[in-house]
Amino acid sequence: MNFCEFARVCEELEGIPGRLAMIDLISRILPTLSDEELPVFIRFIMGRIFPDWSPEKLGIGPNLLYDGIAYVAGIQKDEVIRNINRTGDVGRAVEELLGRKEQTSFFTEELSLLDVYRELAAIAATGGNRSQKEKLKVVRKLFSNTGPLEGRYLARIMLEDLRIGVGEGNVREAIARAFQVDPYQVEHAFQAINDLGQVALLAKEGEERLKEVRIELFHPVKMMLAQQGSIEEAVAENGALAAEYKYDGSRFQFHKSGATCRMYSRKLEDVTDALPDVLDLLVKATDHDVILDGEVIAIRDGRPMPFQTVLRRFRRKYGIEEIREEIRMIPNVFDLLYLDGETLIDIPLSERRSRLAGVIRDYIAPQIVSGDPAVIDRMYQEALAAGHEGLMLKVPSSPYTPGVRGKNWIKIKPAVDTLDLAVIGADWGEGKRAHLFGSFLLACQDVNGELVPLSKVATGFSDEQLQEMYVLLKDRVISESGKEVRFEPGVVVEVGYSEIQMSPNYKGGFALRFPRFIRLRDDKSLDEIETLESIRERHSRQSTVQQ
Ligand code: AMP
Repeated sequence: MNFCEFARVCEELEGIPGRLAMIDLISRILPTLSDEELPVFIRFIMGRIFPDWSPEKLGIGPNLLYDGIAYVAGIQKDEVIRNINRTGDVGRAVEELLGRKEQTSFFTEELSLLDVYRELAAIAATGGNRSQKEKLKVVRKLFSNTGPLEGRYLARIMLEDLRIGVGEGNVREAIARAFQVDPYQVEHAFQAINDLGQVALLAKEGEERLKEVRIELFHPVKMMLAQQGSIEEAVAENGALAAEYKYDGSRFQFHKSGATCRMYSRKLEDVTDALPDVLDLLVKATDHDVILDGEVIAIRDGRPMPFQTVLRRFRRKYGIEEIREEIRMIPNVFDLLYLDGETLIDIPLSERRSRLAGVIRDYIAPQIVSGDPAVIDRMYQEALAAGHEGLMLKVPSSPYTPGVRGKNWIKIKPAVDTLDLAVIGADWGEGKRAHLFGSFLLACQDVNGELVPLSKVATGFSDEQLQEMYVLLKDRVISESGKEVRFEPGVVVEVGYSEIQMSPNYKGGFALRFPRFIRLRDDKSLDEIETLESIRERHSRQSTVQQ
């Protein structure tokens, strides 16, 4: 497949409003691709370059991309940025700029889908001192050989935001239809190996191959997630439940094979080097090859420290030895996904739990099983008194469903009205804060995963937190006009508010009254932010209460 054909498919998909027509189109293309092209096409169409489990990252920010485009279009970077501001989309801006270029120059070679993938993989593999220069060279080369339409999608792929509305669900269905296999088997294989590209290849070979899929060590599995609920309802619906403390720390997945071990965050980033102390503890606690799921908390004087402390450790690259003396990091293990070559996600939680007890000597999160709301409530009060966030209730017969926020895990915590939102823009601060961002534009997501602006937040930040926000966001700037900047989305924050109001000022029709910053949620990814649908629900619930 040539990259220009791929771009035309993207354009067609971008114009299709309905999900079924999208699935139909993708499913007709998949059987026409070679074994090498198939996984690349699948990832690209979802705006991804590498498998989700893979540590490979492209590692280029918007600025480097603009440099490359400016060079190829024969203009200054400022002009690239002005174009992006005007069109509101990097892809469209690149398309327009390359359109101008086309009249004056010719391509040197026609790029195939695989050429583009190989060049991007080469960019990802470039490290060391000269890396930015080397990366820029490849970016220039790629854009010199693309026409305007390909440029639109290449730029968006590089920012891993394709904006054509093709998500995992659509692709799973398209794979099942293309190769006539059971959609359940596609989903199940995806949960275990966490790469739809690879799943498509197996589906092509037949359903039996999908059924043989096993979890692999050092390919992190998506984390199972929880829904909010109440003790009474959960017991009424399920009977006896397994109850554990809900620790307010950070999720981890620990993989160990012999003497080799690695640790992954909730977003599946490799955080092994940031947490040598936690790794030490876990390695000493087991003699088996395992994948463990748990939550690490920071302890000082016997009490859990604020969750932010743990997150900072996950991000830390330097000075780890000094800090590990001050704050003790403790893992709390609550699940076992793999044991000595065996994949355990399909057996019931109660069995996984009893295997866990025989596998690690320490750090298992205490658990009770009870169908009595009063007993569970007592444990909940105990959890809060000890400084934890609340309780997790789990259905004992349930399998481990990676990436699913289902009804088998229910979180119980005190009601606080907060929202997790994406930071999509900011204004520069004033006075002594002029070198930092001052107020931030936040967005929720609609059903297609498009970001919808909802509110600005300027209060609730300490100086230290503003500094932290600046460090996290400075390389994400994609455009700037006057005091306003726009970011490549990716950073998530939790905010409080007094009320959700109808508002003509924002596209989604809602705005927050008295928003205030609570904390950074850089353990959460964009697909976990609040949806417009749930904002609407909260608004109507709130209106009922007011009446
Ligand atoms: P939330 O982030 O509010 O959706 O709550 C789910 C998160 O709670 C999980 O992703 C874990 O990071 C965390 N958690 C804390 N304690 C537990 C536990 N015992 N079992 C499962 N998840 C837990």
